[in-house]
Amino acid sequence: MIYADNAATTRISDGAFEQMLPFLREQYGNASSQYSLGVKAKRAVKQARKKVASAIGAEASEIIFTSGGSEANSWILRCVAEFYHNEKIHIITSIIEHHSVLKACRALEQGGGVEVTFLSVDNTGRISVEDVKAAIKHNTKLVSIMLANNEIGTIQPIAEIGQILCERDILFHTDAVQAVGHIPVSVGDLQVDFLTASAHKFNGAKGVGILYKRSGLELSPLIFGGEQEHGLRAGTENVAGIVAAGYAIEESMAKMDESTKRLQAMVYCTVKGILARLPTAQVNGDAKNCLPGIINFSFEGASGEALMQLLDLKGICVSTSSACNSGQDTPSHVLLALGLTEEKAKSAIRISYGRYNTMDQADTIISAVCDAYEKIMAHH
Ligand SMILES: *Cc1c(COP(=O)(O)O)cnc(C)c1O
Repeated sequence: MIYADNAATTRISDGAFEQMLPFLREQYGNASSQYSLGVKAKRAVKQARKKVASAIGAEASEIIFTSGGSEANSWILRCVAEFYHNEKIHIITSIIEHHSVLKACRALEQGGGVEVTFLSVDNTGRISVEDVKAAIKHNTKLVSIMLANNEIGTIQPIAEIGQILCERDILFHTDAVQAVGHIPVSVGDLQVDFLTASAHKFNGAKGVGILYKRSGLELSPLIFGGEQEHGLRAGTENVAGIVAAGYAIEESMAKMDESTKRLQAMVYCTVKGILARLPTAQVNGDAKNCLPGIINFSFEGASGEALMQLLDLKGICVSTSSACNSGQDTPSHVLLALGLTEEKAKSAIRISYGRYNTMDQADTIISAVCDAYEKIMAHH
């Protein structure tokens, strides 16, 4: 099998897996218990929190563990709206956000009281800093823009936007799920107030999200109960998952430079190889400001779904757009935002390489994609 869908999720690293095991077996204490079994669990969570904080240039007290990126994104949007429930407020986001941001924004709009501006992007998927500036109103309270897109890999000018917003009384959140562990991320440089990450996107375990909240900012609790996660998200900690997240983020940071070079080389060869055989294929996104491992292609006249299924028969995992869209017959909202026609958007596949992919696998993928496309076209 060749797994090339690392933007959907990644395989847990062997080291992170090994780190989890003791906390699932002999070290199963509740981190709130006072005896040594509990204290050990508490200490492990504390260490993981420090590692995560240090990877993004934050303090440990600014890190809140959640069940995932979706939870963290939904929490922030709801919470800001709730905080200003007496006022008519305005939120700025983009039309290429992950559904956990988009749907949360739509729910707030429908609930009344919140007006949302969904900024469009250029044909490479970039948001313009000027557009953000122009969209600001007297009652804008929050801007939520992703650091890097999960379907096309485009990296947004978050630091520039942060610079504009920090001069004003506007909160700034970024969904950095695709970025953390893959490109350098510093909350100070980005000047964000809140940031979301997710462990299963950087070779940690599924079900562990990270919410950075700048110290001094208020956040209302998501879950009531005990004092876990600074009293904001009660419930017995997912100790093993959190420990794995700490290990995985440290490992990703250590391997980042080498990994980036490898991924970029694989992407370069894949693009070159596919375009050489299929000159009508089109690469979607921004070749310059892009995550190292993601490529999105559209193939005139073919269906992405059909391509994906033919590749699956050969044991190759790629996706049509994002994992959240698949199974629905709707074209990707991200590709439509780039200006692709519905037909072209439906012809797309995303290949996303990760730590465990090799150049040989990239070569296999190139041939398999071209074969699959030719097979589909021959039937037309
Ligand atoms: C995967 C992803 C999420 C959701 O994270 P989960 O931990 O799976 O809930 C949010 N935003 C982006 C950009 C993602 O790629």
